[in-house]
Amino acid sequence: MRKRFELDENELPKKWCNILPELPKPLPPPLSPATNEPLNPKDLEALFPKELINQEISKEPDIAIPNEIREKLQRIRPSPLIRAQSLEEFLKTKVRIYYKYEGERSPTGSHKVNTAIAQAFYNTKEGTRSLTTETGAGQWGSALAYASHLFDLNCKVMMVKASYDQKPHRRTIMELYGAEVHPSPSLITDFGKQLLKLDPQHPGSLGIAISEAILLALKEEQTKYSLGSVLNHVLLHQTIIGLEAIKQFQMAESQKFGPDFVVGCVGGGSNFAGLAYPFIREKIRNGYEMQAIAAESTAASKMSDGDYRYDFGDTANMTPLLKMHTLGSDYIPPPIHAGGLRYHGVAPSLSVLIDTGFVTPLKFEQQKAFEAAEIFAKSEGIIPAPESSHAIAAVIDIAKEYRNDEQTVLFNLSGHGLLDLLGYQKYIARELE
Ligand SMILES: *Cc1c(COP(=O)(O)O)cnc(C)c1O
Repeated sequence: MRKRFELDENELPKKWCNILPELPKPLPPPLSPATNEPLNPKDLEALFPKELINQEISKEPDIAIPNEIREKLQRIRPSPLIRAQSLEEFLKTKVRIYYKYEGERSPTGSHKVNTAIAQAFYNTKEGTRSLTTETGAGQWGSALAYASHLFDLNCKVMMVKASYDQKPHRRTIMELYGAEVHPSPSLITDFGKQLLKLDPQHPGSLGIAISEAILLALKEEQTKYSLGSVLNHVLLHQTIIGLEAIKQFQMAESQKFGPDFVVGCVGGGSNFAGLAYPFIREKIRNGYEMQAIAAESTAASKMSDGDYRYDFGDTANMTPLLKMHTLGSDYIPPPIHAGGLRYHGVAPSLSVLIDTGFVTPLKFEQQKAFEAAEIFAKSEGIIPAPESSHAIAAVIDIAKEYRNDEQTVLFNLSGHGLLDLLGYQKYIARELE
């Protein structure tokens, strides 16, 4: 039986799928932190190149991918669609399970390079010389460091202090690609200095690192800021995953437009949206029947337990206010190993889709996610990223519930876990908190 469904390089999608004009309810506009009034897109020009701001508010259903971006993406895509036949056999289920594997060809091991390349390109085109960003465990920082190198941009990464100390390997990767990495809170911004004065051992947080990266971009010439999730343009760039997956799924299951279930894990929402939005668009437009499941961590369960309201994206409250499911911008999640799921909020477009019932959130405990990861590693041979393991936990539940039904499930294996072995070591030694 065929297990891998591959596309040729020349089948790389030529357009991204923009969900904004299809949303069942209009997206509430971002608000200015200064006035609480709808933001003027011009206000974002200090931080982002114009083309990315246009994408942030675009009403075009399909947005062309420039050739320069497709050429760079060809180094790392298309990614394979794989039938998880060994997992099905292990679970003794009739459900047919497929996954899109974003960790196989990506140089940094996850989907994040898809938007890093696009963002680096638009910045270069508009004259940016340096990019600043934040990173938690280092997935996003390494993706942007790699993409910056491809386009000859300088890259400064503010890395959450606790990870900077505990995860030296990701820092090495970023530095090898030529990025400058600072522990956050740092001594290079006033906000960082202020926090370190109060507590020299401050462990930092993603919200603080975002504030510092923004402050740097505002202070330095020809420097812009780059964000790895949540914003509309980031989710847009990731839809290349789902657009490829539609073609590949139809190679595997010629009778169907798409699967009965589409599953992804959610930190800020980019890999989930990347896979699911092209399928959800078909559901909205043509009534294709499918359930979209968004898997989150109980440590940061903003979709299941958060409020749906306007909130800031960072700790210093400098970002525009976005209407989203949120646990509050001052929420400090417990230190789980799935660092990429520890964000307090979720993409505004995803929030609308949850609110209107197009996406169902489910939350999973860390222990359960690691158990799912172990099953997956033993059956499929791939050690999943701890983030992706939350999606696998959801898939295993579906495969058990529909054991005797001919359902199909597609999930996003957003990355591999070969740089997360510390977490796995603790799981094996039964030392997980
Ligand atoms: C960052 C990350 C996530 C979470 O971020 P999203 O924007 O929600 O996709 C999930 N999986 C992996 C492997 C990551 O690196």
